[in-house]
Amino acid sequence: NLSKRLETVARFIPENAVMADIGSDHAYLPCFSILQGKARLAIAGEITSGPYESAKNQVIKTELQNVISVRQGDGLSVIKEEDQVDCITIAGMGGGLIKKILEEGSSKLTTVKRLILQPNIHSIYIREWLVENNWELVDEEIIEEDDKIYEILVAEKGNTKKPYKGVSFHAGLLLGPILIAKKTDVFKKKWLHESTHWKAIIKQLEQSGHTYNNNEKYRDLTEKIKLVEEVLES
Ligand code: SAM
Repeated sequence: NLSKRLETVARFIPENAVMADIGSDHAYLPCFSILQGKARLAIAGEITSGPYESAKNQVIKTELQNVISVRQGDGLSVIKEEDQVDCITIAGMGGGLIKKILEEGSSKLTTVKRLILQPNIHSIYIREWLVENNWELVDEEIIEEDDKIYEILVAEKGNTKKPYKGVSFHAGLLLGPILIAKKTDVFKKKWLHESTHWKAIIKQLEQSGHTYNNNEKYRDLTEKIKLVEEVLES
């Protein structure tokens, strides 16, 4: 059984996709996507030997060697032109690392029609990268599993500014323009929790003599709390 988190990622894989799952670990996502009849072909990329071996074993166990190619390498470097990959999934890493993988592999994105990204933290880095590189957010999901909250970002080439129409751009980058529009209970829970945490940090900063005027962290957190409260109260 696949986790709710990876199942949500899989839901966005187009029919007949040729997918590359980067940082695939056990290759559960490509195996599931092929067995579900969604992806037609898959590449499972892994940089680390242990997870690379476990991906290979899983593919053998599910007898999918003829449709899933397991490759060891850094980020998108495992993708070749002749693969004609049209969908990339990157899940379970920080937003900073996902952004770095996309940036360093930008030459491999020419055939790609859809990115499905699931950052554990710092999804703002991904939204900023998407805006700067002509990818349009076409959907976002926020889910809760085992007391953890996850965001899934889906992007296609297009009008980068479109999803931000009608929301404050800075709030959109931080919280997600589509997630703001959906404003689910899980979304509210996440941002209430974050802003409570930030307020506790501000209190500590105040106790050691810091203020908005003399401390950058204080300013940064204050600005973010303001963005979050505007969204939650609207
Ligand atoms: N994608 C799976 C999931 O969501 O369940 C596995 C997530 S696991 C926490 C992150 C995996 O990414 C690790 O197996 C790690 O070795 C791999 N990884 C980290 N940096 C990578 C890179 N630059 N290129 C390929 N794989 C990478």
